[in-house]
Amino acid sequence: MAKIQMTTPIVEMDGDEMTRILWKKIKEILILPYVDLNTEYYDLGLVHRDETADTVTVESALATKKYGVAVKCATITPNVQRMSEYNLHEMWKSPNGTIRRILDGTVFRAPIVCKGIRSYVPTWTKPIVLARHAYGDVYAAVDHIAEPGNKVFLVTEDKEGREVARQLVHDFNGTSGVVQGMHNCDDSIRSFAHSCFRYALEQSLPMMFATKDTISKVYDGQFKKIFNEVYEEYKEQFEAKGLWYLYTLIDDAVARIVRSEGGILWACKNYDGDVMSDMVATAYGSLGMMTSVLVSPDGKYEYEAAHGTVTRHYYKYLKGEETSTNSVATIFAWTGALHKRGEMDGNEELMAFAKKLEQATIATIEEGEMTGDLVPLFHREGITPRKLNSEEFLYAIAKRL
Ligand code: NAP
Ligand code: MG
Repeated sequence: MAKIQMTTPIVEMDGDEMTRILWKKIKEILILPYVDLNTEYYDLGLVHRDETADTVTVESALATKKYGVAVKCATITPNVQRMSEYNLHEMWKSPNGTIRRILDGTVFRAPIVCKGIRSYVPTWTKPIVLARHAYGDVYAAVDHIAEPGNKVFLVTEDKEGREVARQLVHDFNGTSGVVQGMHNCDDSIRSFAHSCFRYALEQSLPMMFATKDTISKVYDGQFKKIFNEVYEEYKEQFEAKGLWYLYTLIDDAVARIVRSEGGILWACKNYDGDVMSDMVATAYGSLGMMTSVLVSPDGKYEYEAAHGTVTRHYYKYLKGEETSTNSVATIFAWTGALHKRGEMDGNEELMAFAKKLEQATIATIEEGEMTGDLVPLFHREGITPRKLNSEEFLYAIAKRL
């Protein structure tokens, strides 16, 4: 066949360790034979981030703003141990955090569902997509210890330093304790709401948003109010597509989610999203099957796998040992980006290719060929799962593609 052409580039963000190895193989085996791949390449591998004093991360995010679509490999977020391992000049910040701040985006995490890989919640036959508001609340809070006899106040000053509000938080009369002050910003909540409604419409998913506004009347009440306001802009489009939007209490949301069959977008405040995304991911099986996409309120997209660089497998690889690392989420990051590029450019062939690659990947697993992490999760009448190594799995997909 003639290779599929691309008019506009995708921003390609390379990464670290085992996922960097898979990245190259995925391109070689599954994409380059069919697509005349047009990417603007940024190496976000830790070595190059260090060499460029992390400017490469910022440049890749700006390129995403320009071209609208990016695909990212997992990257190391340095800690003390990485400082010496890579002889770093600085403990560079998380690239994902940097990119998210520049794009002002929301992260949507969605599991890839296959027949044979059963969810721990048997009714969840469709994906539950989780959106986490990644700004503020307890993650940007200040807190301290209060000593016996302390009184703690919440005080607000205007620009001129005049006190405009003062509330007693607690009178620590006779006992010590803890206090915390946290905030959020209307702009950030509004951006989050836009990203969620936009994503739900695009994916044709009904959407639920929940807080605890019966208890946190002003704070959570503000989230509820802003979401309701923003929904008015999308209401007609939701109704035209037969989709619904529900605001409810977080307790009720949890109950509804457990009873659901999936196929829903669940928008969460920061803390709820942190906890619930791990719960949902675990229930669907392997981290290797969880994708993630960052969507900005003005419609820029960055696709990636939700897992990290799979360090333990990389060390095995370096020793020349065989690995069986799941590449599905990274493949779906590529297909997500290629499909979106196709959609934006009106490139039907590219969109069709992305869908076919996804189908071939799912069929490979459903027919019993998979990486080691999936083998213990696989149960399908008449099929004994076969464990393939990292590369064999990619060739098994290529055969079906
Ligand atoms: P991880 O790379 O997600 O791996 C944790 C464990 O989960 C692995 O050791 C492996 O378990 C299993 N696993 C994850 N993905 C898998 C896959 N595709 N196939 C098979 N098994 C998989 O998390 P981590 O070890 O905590 O972090 C490693 C590095 O990744 C860190 O430097 C961290 O900063 C970075 N990280 C990056 C991102 C990102 O770029 N988005 C996200 C998270 C972490 P077994 O060892 O039991 O096989
Ligand atoms: Mg978490």
